[in-house]
Amino acid sequence: MTCDLCDAPEAETVGDLELCAKCREGVEGAVQDGPHWQCLHGAVWSERREVQLAAAQVLMKLGVPWALEVLEMGALPEDVLAEARGAGEPEVVHRDTNGAVLSAGDTVVLIKDLPVKGAGFTAKRGTAVRGISLVPENAGHIEGRVDGQRIVILTEFVKKQG
Ligand SMILES: [Zn+2]
Repeated sequence: MTCDLCDAPEAETVGDLELCAKCREGVEGAVQDGPHWQCLHGAVWSERREVQLAAAQVLMKLGVPWALEVLEMGALPEDVLAEARGAGEPEVVHRDTNGAVLSAGDTVVLIKDLPVKGAGFTAKRGTAVRGISLVPENAGHIEGRVDGQRIVILTEFVKKQG
C-alpha cells in the first residue's frame, strides 16, 4: 500500500489510513515545516473524508502561511475543517495532585514548601491560596497570590480545598 497523504511506497495501516512513517509522525505528533508536506496540496483533494481530515490536521499544526493558504483554497468541506480544529486544540484541564479539576477562583492548599524563584521567600506547606487563576496554555501551571506576591504554582503541588 502507498501512503494516503504522500504516495510514499512504504506505508502501514493507522486507523482508516495508510501512512508512511513521516506522515504518521505528522498526524500523531508535532509537525515541522519541510518539503515533505507539499504532498498535502494533493491530499486535500482526496475524495476520502479520513484523508481530508488527516491533511487538515497536519496543515493546522504546521500553521505556516502556505499551509493556511492550502486550508483556505476551498478543497476541504467545512465540517472536516471544524473537526480538524477540534482535534488540533485539546482542551487544557488543570488538575490538583489528586486529580481534582481546578477552576479559576478556587482555593488550593500547598502540599509542600515551595521556594519562590526571584522573590526570595518560601511558600510554606499548608498555605491556602485563594482565588487562583489558571494558566490557559499550560495545564501544569496556576497562578495565585502568596505573601502579597503573585506567583506561578505547579498544580502537582496543590490540593483543592473544599
Ligand atoms: Zn506519507
